[in-house]
Amino acid sequence: MHGTTRIKITELNPHLMCALCGGYFIDATTIVECLHSFCRTCIVRYLESNKYCPMCDAQVHKTRPLLSIR
Ligand SMILES: [Zn+2]
Ligand SMILES: [Zn+2]
Repeated sequence: MHGTTRIKITELNPHLMCALCGGYFIDATTIVECLHSFCRTCIVRYLESNKYCPMCDAQVHKTRPLLSIR
Protein backbone atom coordinates (compact mmCIF):
# COMPACT_ATOMS: atom_id res chain seq x y z
CA MET A 1 0.00 0.00 0.00
CA HIS A 2 2.94 2.29 -0.43
CA GLY A 3 5.66 3.28 -2.81
CA THR A 4 3.69 3.23 -6.04
CA THR A 5 1.59 6.36 -5.79
CA ARG A 6 3.26 9.72 -5.46
CA ILE A 7 1.49 13.00 -5.12
CA LYS A 8 2.97 15.75 -7.24
CA ILE A 9 3.63 18.40 -4.70
CA THR A 10 5.05 20.70 -7.36
CA GLU A 11 1.72 20.84 -9.16
CA LEU A 12 0.09 23.84 -7.59
CA ASN A 13 -3.64 23.79 -7.23
CA PRO A 14 -5.03 27.22 -8.14
CA HIS A 15 -8.03 26.59 -5.93
CA LEU A 16 -5.72 26.62 -2.93
CA MET A 17 -3.99 29.83 -3.91
CA CYS A 18 -4.91 33.30 -2.73
CA ALA A 19 -5.20 35.79 -5.60
CA LEU A 20 -4.29 38.66 -3.31
CA CYS A 21 -0.96 37.46 -1.96
CA GLY A 22 -0.20 34.65 -4.41
CA GLY A 23 0.38 32.09 -1.67
CA TYR A 24 -1.57 29.32 -0.07
CA PHE A 25 -4.58 30.30 1.97
CA ILE A 26 -3.93 31.23 5.54
CA ASP A 27 -7.14 30.87 7.54
CA ALA A 28 -9.13 30.59 4.30
CA THR A 29 -12.16 32.84 4.11
CA THR A 30 -14.90 32.67 1.48
CA ILE A 31 -17.04 35.46 0.05
CA VAL A 32 -20.56 34.09 0.33
CA GLU A 33 -21.84 36.00 -2.72
CA CYS A 34 -19.55 34.27 -5.20
CA LEU A 35 -17.75 31.59 -3.13
CA HIS A 36 -14.27 32.86 -3.97
CA SER A 37 -11.77 32.27 -1.20
CA PHE A 38 -8.82 34.24 0.13
CA CYS A 39 -6.71 34.41 3.24
CA ARG A 40 -8.67 36.06 6.00
CA THR A 41 -6.11 38.79 6.48
CA CYS A 42 -5.89 39.43 2.72
CA ILE A 43 -9.62 39.76 2.11
CA VAL A 44 -10.31 41.71 5.28
CA ARG A 45 -7.66 44.24 4.32
CA TYR A 46 -8.92 44.33 0.74
CA LEU A 47 -12.52 44.93 1.76
CA GLU A 48 -11.54 47.86 3.91
CA SER A 49 -11.20 49.88 0.71
CA ASN A 50 -13.15 47.80 -1.81
CA LYS A 51 -16.68 46.40 -2.04
CA TYR A 52 -16.13 43.96 -4.87
CA CYS A 53 -14.58 40.53 -5.09
CA PRO A 54 -11.02 40.82 -6.47
CA MET A 55 -11.60 37.71 -8.57
CA CYS A 56 -14.94 38.31 -10.29
CA ASP A 57 -16.10 41.81 -9.26
CA ALA A 58 -19.18 40.43 -7.56
CA GLN A 59 -20.46 43.02 -5.13
CA VAL A 60 -19.90 42.09 -1.53
CA HIS A 61 -22.28 43.19 1.20
CA LYS A 62 -22.96 46.88 0.58
CA THR A 63 -22.54 48.36 4.00
CA ARG A 64 -20.92 45.61 6.03
CA PRO A 65 -18.70 43.63 3.65
CA LEU A 66 -17.22 41.68 6.50
CA LEU A 67 -20.62 40.10 7.08
CA SER A 68 -20.37 38.46 3.68
CA ILE A 69 -17.27 36.43 4.37
CA ARG A 70 -16.81 33.40 6.51
ZN1 LIG B 1 -3.61 35.88 0.73
ZN1 LIG C 1 -15.74 36.31 -6.65
